[in-house]
Amino acid sequence: MSLHQAVNLAFLVAAVCFVLGLHFMNSPATARRGNQVSAAGMVLAVAAAFALVADGGAMTAGRWLVLLCGALVGAGVGLWAARSVLMTAMPQLVSLFNAVGGGAATMIALADYARNPQQGSGTALATVLDVIIGSVTFAGSLVAAAKLQGYASQPIRFAGSRLANLALAVVALASAVAVVARVESLPVLVVTLAAALGVGVLMVLPIGGADMPVVISLLNAFTGTAVAMAGFVLSNTILTVAGALVGASGTILTKLMADAMNRSVPAIMVGGFGTGAAGIEASGAGGGSVRSIEVDDAALQLAYAERVIVVPGYGLAAAQAQHELRALAAVLEERGVDVSYAIHPVAGRMPGHMNVLLAEANVPYDQLKEMEEVNPELPRADVALVVGANDVTNPAARRPGNAVSGMPILDVDQAKSVIVIKRSMASGYAGMDNELYTDPRTAMLFSDAKKGLAALTAATKALVG
Ligand code: NDP
Repeated sequence: MSLHQAVNLAFLVAAVCFVLGLHFMNSPATARRGNQVSAAGMVLAVAAAFALVADGGAMTAGRWLVLLCGALVGAGVGLWAARSVLMTAMPQLVSLFNAVGGGAATMIALADYARNPQQGSGTALATVLDVIIGSVTFAGSLVAAAKLQGYASQPIRFAGSRLANLALAVVALASAVAVVARVESLPVLVVTLAAALGVGVLMVLPIGGADMPVVISLLNAFTGTAVAMAGFVLSNTILTVAGALVGASGTILTKLMADAMNRSVPAIMVGGFGTGAAGIEASGAGGGSVRSIEVDDAALQLAYAERVIVVPGYGLAAAQAQHELRALAAVLEERGVDVSYAIHPVAGRMPGHMNVLLAEANVPYDQLKEMEEVNPELPRADVALVVGANDVTNPAARRPGNAVSGMPILDVDQAKSVIVIKRSMASGYAGMDNELYTDPRTAMLFSDAKKGLAALTAATKALVG
């Protein structure tokens, strides 16, 4: 078998690993195996790519040094980031990884064009698509990471921003057409790149409120597509396959998130930015009175309930209180209380955030209920225990004209009684007051989620012996 045949075989095996890995991720029970299988495929693909490069005859000692140093630094930073980053900072990290993917794909196309601008029109088309999508992803993902980190999380708009974005898009497209029409000029491709970077920034800056989840998955799909284009540019099968898999799965996720949030993806891309209005409404929460509750009274209510539905949100992740929540549920279940968990598709800060968090605390999967399944059950719940969730429970979403308008919510206000654990009356990610907190059926247990849940468990145990 020649080296090229062996490399192609390795690429094929790696592609199969990626597909199997994705398949295993269908269920939380097999997701870890999915990660391992995909990682094994990636190691094989990288090894095969090294063999191909070594066989190419163009490598000198200096080039090997650069290549190995780059690989070591990249792998080292990746390993360090993945191991040390807090679970709550994971969305920002994912956004930065998206930026790196888009940026790397762009650099590949740029370097290839700089080396040989006399491309056939097929390769030139892949080159410009790679540069446009990769640059939009790079710039957009950096802005998204900053927003998730808490900088400029509210929408940023300025007069003429949409017009400026349209103008930049026209420049990017016009210069891209020139490249495909064989202008054979690197500066023209650099113009495409610069304009696309601007489009990325202006596309994400005005997004805020509850629309970020859709944007993040959209940028993830873009990263995959840019990488697939880089695969075409280099005629590298495994790059094309891996990029296409990320692009396709990211596109499906984007559609699911957009449907779950009742948002339109084209509207977000062209600057309509969802259905939520720009203004942040100071809603009725300021008007009504807020009832707070002590730990002992809350424990009493929980201990004598028949059915408790827990509504986890970002605050549970921020407090890392999943184990305390599981411990409280165990005490309640021992008493025969029926406990289940209501999972909103955008609760937390990344798709599947609550599922991952609760799986970490070994909450049985069959107790996790999706929004459509749990909403009809909420009116029969004696207590809805809201732990660090805010926007995903805000009844203001049912009205037009605010930042969460149109977003389907968990119908917590339909439960017989509601206990909310959070530290203050502060708003959630969308910056809105929550009308649930002034509902007469709601009692606020002001506490850090970890401390509050631990105190509730202790009080419940003391109460029921
Ligand atoms: P929110 O961001 O609406 O609210 C979280 C609440 O948690 C805050 O009001 C805060 O109140 C409370 N909190 C924070 N720290 C603690 C703590 N240590 N203990 C107890 N409570 C705490 O969260 P939701 O999950 O309800 O909604 C998610 C929001 O994030 C949506 O707007 C969604 O669109 C957005 N988003 C989601 C993404 C995703 O992919 N899932 C990605 C990007 C954005 P207080 O300070 O008073 O304690």
